[in-house]
Parts: sequence; C-alpha cells; structure tokens
Amino acid sequence: MDNLAKDINLANTPLKINAESQEKRVLCVDKTAESDAPFIIKEGAAEIVVLSSKNVFYNPVQEFNRDLSVAVLTLFSEDHNNNISIGRRKQTDKTLEEQPKNCDLAKTLIAGVKYENGLNILEALSASGLRSIRYAKEVPGLNSIVANDISEAAVTSIRANIAHNDVNHLVTASHSDAVLVMYQHRRYQDRFHAVDLDPYGCPSHFLDAAVQCVSDGGILLVTCTDMAVLCGNTPETCYSKYGSISLKNKACHEMALRILLQCIESHANRYSRYIVPLLSVSADFYIRVFVKIYTSAAICKESISKLSYVYQCVGCETMTLQPLGLCNKIGPKPSQTKFVLPHGPPVDVLCQHCGHKHRIGGPIWSGPLHDTDFVVRLSTHIHTSTFGTLRRMEGVLAVISEELNDVPLYYTMDRLCSIVRCQTMSILSVRSAVLNAGYRVSYSHANRMSIKTDAPMYVLWDIVRYWESQNPIKMERRQNVSEAILSKKQTIKVDMTVREDANPESRQLKLVRFQENPLRYWGPGTSVQENKEEKRIANQGKKKKKRKPDLSPDKQETFKISKQDDKDM
Ligand SMILES: [Zn+2]
Repeated sequence: MDNLAKDINLANTPLKINAESQEKRVLCVDKTAESDAPFIIKEGAAEIVVLSSKNVFYNPVQEFNRDLSVAVLTLFSEDHNNNISIGRRKQTDKTLEEQPKNCDLAKTLIAGVKYENGLNILEALSASGLRSIRYAKEVPGLNSIVANDISEAAVTSIRANIAHNDVNHLVTASHSDAVLVMYQHRRYQDRFHAVDLDPYGCPSHFLDAAVQCVSDGGILLVTCTDMAVLCGNTPETCYSKYGSISLKNKACHEMALRILLQCIESHANRYSRYIVPLLSVSADFYIRVFVKIYTSAAICKESISKLSYVYQCVGCETMTLQPLGLCNKIGPKPSQTKFVLPHGPPVDVLCQHCGHKHRIGGPIWSGPLHDTDFVVRLSTHIHTSTFGTLRRMEGVLAVISEELNDVPLYYTMDRLCSIVRCQTMSILSVRSAVLNAGYRVSYSHANRMSIKTDAPMYVLWDIVRYWESQNPIKMERRQNVSEAILSKKQTIKVDMTVREDANPESRQLKLVRFQENPLRYWGPGTSVQENKEEKRIANQGKKKKKRKPDLSPDKQETFKISKQDDKDM
C-alpha cells in the first residue's frame, strides 16, 4: 500500500496547488470536482494526494488550526529536548544546576530527522494524515508519529501520503479504533508525549483514554466543533456530553473553551492527574485547546478552586461566578493547603440590577485559559517559520497576550446597550471609562466587541446609565429591564475621556485580530461543505428576485432608473 502514491500518475494531475491563498486552494478543489483524477493539495511543507475528489479528507479552513498546532508542538519539542539535555549534563556536571535555562540544544534540531529521545506523537483521528505529515516535516526533534484512523479509506489515504512525502522513518499509519490505540498506550513506558484529537464534533468520548496515554508533562491538543451544544443551544446535551450546563450569552465562545477545559480536567482528575492550559483558542466554527498534563494527587485537590458555577440573570445577563471550593495555602508545599467550601449563592434571589431571576450554568474552568509566557514565546516563534496563516496567528496571539488571564468571561458593549435599548457607544469610550474608574480592561480574542474587565457589574451599568443620560432614549422605550436599570442612581462618577492606553497595541497595529468574513467551505467536514456549496450556487440571486422594490419617495427615483437600465440592456 505504501507504493500507492507511486502508482498514481502525478504528472497528469490537473493541478498542483500553491499555498499562497486559502481561497485559491478552495477554487482548485472545485475544478477537480468535475474530473475524478487524483490531485495534490499543498499546505505548509506537506503535500497530500487526493485520490478522488468525492472523498476529500481536507478542510482548508482549518489551516489556521494546523499552523497553530505546528508552532505549539515546535516549542513543546524545544522544551522537551532541552530538558533531556539538561538532565544528562546535570549528571556529568553538577555546576550546571546554576545555569540550566540557557541551553539551546533544541535550536540545532532539524525537522524531518528522527531523534531517539525525541517526541512520540499520536494523531488519533488522522483522516488524510496531513497533520501528522506536517508535524513530521515541520516540527524538529521528533522520534515517531502514529497517524491513526478507523476508516479504511482514510488509512489508504494516510499511507499514500506518507510515501508521497517521504516520511516513512517518522510516521506510521495505524488502522484501529482511536480509543483502543490510546488504551493500549496507558503503561508508563508506552505513553505519548503529545496526543492530538481533532474529531468531527465532540471529543468527550476520547478524553478518558487520552488523559491516560499522555506522559507526565506531556501535551494534549483537542478540537471541538459542536459549538451549538457548547454555546447554550442545547444545555441538556452539553451536560450529557461534557458534564456542564452551557448558557446562551455573548461570552458563549469563551464559555465553550472553559466547559471543554473543565471536562478534560475532570477526566484527568480520576487518574490523579491535572491540566495546565498553555493556549485556548476560539476560531471560526471550532475551539482548540493545548493543555499540559501532570500527575499529582495533592494538586488534584485544588481542582475545586479552579471550577465555578455561573449565575446568569435572565433579564440583564449579568454573570456571577460561584467557585466550587476555595483553597488557602498555609505553606509552599502542595500538601500544605487548606480547603474550604464557599458559602452561596453569590447572588440574591432577584438580580440586584434588574430584579429578574437567575439561571445556573457550569461548572466551568475558571482558572487561566493560557500560559502568558508561553503565548509570548509563541508570538515570537511564529515569525521564524513561513505559515500560510501567519497574519492571523500574529493577530490572534497578540490579542491573547493582552487578555486579562485572571478574569473569566466577558460582556459585549453592543449587547449591554441593546439590553437598555440605547445607542451603542464606541469601544474606546467604554474602555477608557473602565480605566478611568480604576479597573483593568482587555479584549477577548473570542469577540471583537468584548469587554473583559475586573470591574464589578454596577460599574459597567453606571457607564451605560451615564451614556444614556448623554444620549437619552424615548420614554416609551424604557420598559422592563431597560427601565429597571436606567432608573437606578449612579454609584460612581463616570469619566468617558478617551485615554491613549485604552487602545491596545494589537488594535493600533491593525493586526488581523478576529475572524474575517467566512470563506467558502466554512464549516466542519468536507461532505457537509459540498452540500453547502451546491446549495449556495442553487440559491444565487434568489433573495434578489424575491426582494420587493422599495417604493418610498426617496427611493422611487432610483427604482425607475434601474428599470430603465434593464430595458437598455
Ligand atoms: Zn439582572
């Protein structure tokens, strides 16, 4: 089967895709859909052979996800190889304990070369093998990669791609159930340094096996694409899959990340293991988390202080967190910690801002989403490689490095204004008002209108009240929640003078910070994309045909002219 790629007459392939633009690549897939000849898709340093256009295991929109994974694994590999080197040198040279940080052995490692003490990676749901091949060709310091898939067609594709990319020495194809492969590697000496889970939908049924087959200090990379479930459309399904109730609100994408982290932590805790998130990203139609896994029964006890329930007012959507537990450190050792159960609930029966009741969601992960030092290193590292989505990586990582890592969740200014039915204010004015009141503020990478702040909610409502007093709404619009909030007295003196530090560096530099308009093929899975594309073509111009002309006096003239144009044509 390894010779499969050689059997394909690649000279006759209809196209060889240049990795310049995602749009271009999508168009190329379109063209080949008419013929059924094999063709090649190029991404990063890898090329994948697509045997039939009807069976494409390739999603171009996830290139950002793969680029990010390559970058994260490269840094992880550097750390891993440096630690091995330091360990060895410590054995021979005791003085090295004084200056172990500046070991740069990892910088000399070469991608594509096998290292006996390098990383062992498992890609549990490999599909085309593209991700594994990119790791093999772009991440230095690897020992082995297992590219596994349960589908026979996918494994055929993986084998063809391994041979085509000449990475037989690093990548092995595996045709098995992902869960089975992971359970077979639970023993200490068989564990992987990195396990990548990129399922179609929910990863929860892989997590029990995944948290057991990662080595101590190893990394788990997990994608979720079932955003409707995680974002509060079906909280009952979210509970059955992730053990947490999702809520509908503007911070739902960050909440999705926190529900997933909570789920991984809960699986890890069963085996006296715990997670440390390195990077958690919400992008396009999916979320992706990179977490390290360690073993310590004592630190597992601290998990209750990293998880919280969320009380959300049904009227004004104010969110209040209730931690599951509190831990007080009485000494430097993990065992010197005292655990206390907190008093609750953290809110009154009725919301203090609008008088409505609350819904309870969670538990969610309320600890840090990222390791800020790691994110800063990553931001520097990405410029040493040529990633297809470099501009977006640069922008997203810049926003993440500016995020308030100790403040869970966020509000959006447009939503707060729409709750009281007033005009939306500018994001810089709001950020300045929060800073002028003496609190911190940042964006969240998950929403371009986000206000992530440690200011109490009454401060945000005071800012909204002050804004409304300057731009009053009609009295008849002041009803229910709007009236309850606007009729309250100001508690702080609001100063909306715009400050320079309210405009973060990532915004000043005009980086690509948030998702741009979705490209074609946007969404998980290729089979779905094909249907979407056919539907898109069939629906072209449909709305235009249905739309009735606007016959208001100022528009009638325009309409007449366009009718005339039609006749002329
Ligand atoms: Zn309320």
